[in-house]
Amino acid sequence: MRKRVALISLGCAKNLVNSEQMLYLLSEAGYEITDTPEGADAVVVNTCGFIEAAKNEAIETILELGAAKAAGTVGNIIVAGCFAQRYKSEILDELPEIDAVVGTGSYGEIVSAVETARSGRRGALFGEPGGSGETGRLLSSPGRPWAYIKIAEGCDNRCAFCVIPELRGGFRSRTVENIAAEARALCGAGVSELILVAQDTARYGLDIYGRRRLPELLAELSEIEALKWIRLHYLYPDEVDDALIDAMARGGKVLRYLDIPIQHINDGILKRMNRRGTGADIRALIKKARARLPGVVIRTSLIAGLPGEGDAEFEELCDFLRESRLERAGVFTYSPEEGTPAALMERPDGATARRRAELIEDIQSRIMDEYNAGRVGERCSVLVEGARDGRYYGRSYAESPEIDGRVLVEGEGLSVGCFADVAVTGAVGGDVTARVVCP
Ligand code: SF4
Repeated sequence: MRKRVALISLGCAKNLVNSEQMLYLLSEAGYEITDTPEGADAVVVNTCGFIEAAKNEAIETILELGAAKAAGTVGNIIVAGCFAQRYKSEILDELPEIDAVVGTGSYGEIVSAVETARSGRRGALFGEPGGSGETGRLLSSPGRPWAYIKIAEGCDNRCAFCVIPELRGGFRSRTVENIAAEARALCGAGVSELILVAQDTARYGLDIYGRRRLPELLAELSEIEALKWIRLHYLYPDEVDDALIDAMARGGKVLRYLDIPIQHINDGILKRMNRRGTGADIRALIKKARARLPGVVIRTSLIAGLPGEGDAEFEELCDFLRESRLERAGVFTYSPEEGTPAALMERPDGATARRRAELIEDIQSRIMDEYNAGRVGERCSVLVEGARDGRYYGRSYAESPEIDGRVLVEGEGLSVGCFADVAVTGAVGGDVTARVVCP
């Protein structure tokens, strides 16, 4: 009988790509992939170690699985990813329920890690952080019409609050050919939207070609007939240049969705955090994007409570949000991470940082509700992802999966993976409602 393996993917989109690569390798090695840990011979947890909340989630997941293992409902526990990498010297001692660990440089060895664990030995595999993800993929949700595709690994920036470069190594682009081959395979399997991710997506190509080549990569991917939408995430603001805006303005398959994680708007904080550019540069980019790309949806991520954030700096951030009315924004509470320069700097206390994050969420959720309400009457194309409670759900260009809302569609005869022309009829709880219209 085939051995059964389950995988729990925590953290970000980039981690999900590594999870799907491990699923592919395990399935090629003959393992049956199951949806739930219960009854699995082995469970792989692909962890995130970016901030305190992510670390706590990883530990809680491991402890829950440990209890299930003690009760005999799951087999071996294998922990992979950033949390494992970050605590590589102590993780096996501190968490005895773990049978094997796999660092960010050893995803490709997941089969041997599972086999080591199954043989009753405890083991750790820590290659050099990296690996640019050049294996096949098995989508974690079969039939899903979209996929993330990782175009580079690691990061060469040194934002003062961030441990990612230490966990994932320096920036390494994949070749255009390699990415295009993976994209074709995914589209051949029914994917019609690809979401390009990396730690620093707009830098793509600089390391291996000597210049940025994201616009050329977009042109190459646009040639794939079955591919209908290309969405970009994680564009460092100062790298969004005219060539990239031109590529979005051409009106082809590249969606007018601009994800620029800015983290803060105050010049002093940006400088202290070793971010390139100023608040004025960020405002100018937003203005330019809106002028050149009518209808563009701009997303950002922010950190509340960074070192140097007094009341005035926080107010500046709130004012910026109220004025710029970004369509999408996510906020993290600053978490001082050991080994980072920012952890040694003076900062607001934890309660203040959390309260500020909540205030930002309040401001932003009002802006997003107003944005959604303002879309009533808009006509757009929706990629259908499923049906529930008598209506379909999916996403337009304005919603990225897992982080934005959905479009809830009244209509008949639609199927998962098809595109429907709709008119927006209302806004409800972060989603919009719509009805099918004739094209
Ligand atoms: S750009 Fe900055 S925040 Fe993003 S992964 Fe690199 S170092 Fe971390």
